[in-house]
Amino acid sequence: MTVFASEMMGGYAGERVLVTGGAGFVGSHLCDRLLALGSRVDVLDDLSTGSAANIPLGIGRFIERDVSASDPLPDYDVIFHLACPASPPRYQADPVATFRTAVFGTVRMLEEAWRTGARILIASTSEIYGDPQEHPQKESYWGHVNPIGLRSCYDEGKRAAETVATDYRRKYGIDLRMVRIFNTYGPRMDPFDGRVVSNFIRQGLLGLPLTLYGDGSQTRSFCFVSDLVEGILRLGALPDEPGREAPVNLGNPGEFTIGELADIVEEVLGSSLGRVNHPLPSDDPRRRRPDIARAEHLLGWSPQVPLRQGIALTVENFRGRPEELLSDRNP
Ligand code: NAD
Ligand code: UDP
Repeated sequence: MTVFASEMMGGYAGERVLVTGGAGFVGSHLCDRLLALGSRVDVLDDLSTGSAANIPLGIGRFIERDVSASDPLPDYDVIFHLACPASPPRYQADPVATFRTAVFGTVRMLEEAWRTGARILIASTSEIYGDPQEHPQKESYWGHVNPIGLRSCYDEGKRAAETVATDYRRKYGIDLRMVRIFNTYGPRMDPFDGRVVSNFIRQGLLGLPLTLYGDGSQTRSFCFVSDLVEGILRLGALPDEPGREAPVNLGNPGEFTIGELADIVEEVLGSSLGRVNHPLPSDDPRRRRPDIARAEHLLGWSPQVPLRQGIALTVENFRGRPEELLSDRNP
């Protein structure tokens, strides 16, 4: 067993790092931490769901382009590949583009890792488990995914990305890491991305009733972004050894119904908001909770921020962006 404490991530100092999707929610927090660890960070992003305002000062180059594009790139020591829309309304807005990004974008970054010998960490998702029939979900579970549903462009795109990445490892021996990220939230989320946490907090701050899809009995396990980034960095810092290419679940095992999440948002805001019911979207998973034994064992990692505290920190961040809350973008 190898347990890596945060201070052992000194390996990032001076490394040339590319973060694809670095203008997005998770990617921008990852850039912050990498810069603090002394990495030389470049960001590649097409700004389709991210924002230039998220990109931290202190990065080297901002390469504004589609991650699938074949244009040459500088050499890097490490590639964190996160570029892909992540919220259901955003990834369903152009499903063909989402699938292309998930698959061709990943192949493009794998080619780059193979060309340069960079180690590459790929952001996969709990969505690869679909509507799970095993609970909680271990990495060994193969999932239960509709191949032709409205979510499939993302779920199946990410599954194909895991497949092709594993085959690059087998065929070319690239230094691969993969994380299966469970629902993550925190400051800098786009208040209009349509995810449940952003919707509830935006609605709550505007005094609107909270939009409950279905009866709110479906569950999710919500991880605060700083916990997620810590797990990503620990995995990315491990030396290359056989088996390290296998996916690792990163998420908070605390499981809540969406109705309970609504109650927590109300409690944190100290106001009574009411609920407005909407139909449950098709193929919406009934429940989801990570088994994080592999991350605990391999990385000495477990989430530290409880949901109420994380929601309070996110509320504080949203309060500081009043002009964004009042724009009338969908959803
Ligand atoms: P996000 O939408 O905030 O960030 C994604 C970033 O990728 C954006 O800046 C966007 O502009 C960029 N991007 C999208 N398509 C691109 C393309 N074709 N070329 C270049 N850039 C492109 O989403 P996020 O929540 O930060 O998610 C980041 C990664 O983590 C994604 O790969 C997502 O699948 C994965 N993930 C996130 C969660 C979560 O709960 N946040 C859960 C599971 C997996
Ligand atoms: N959801 C909800 N109200 C909203 C947005 C989402 O009840 O305003 C539900 C959604 O149907 C799902 C859960 O909350 O069951 C999590 O949705 P999200 O889009 O955040 O993540 P994902 O479905 O990708 O896990």
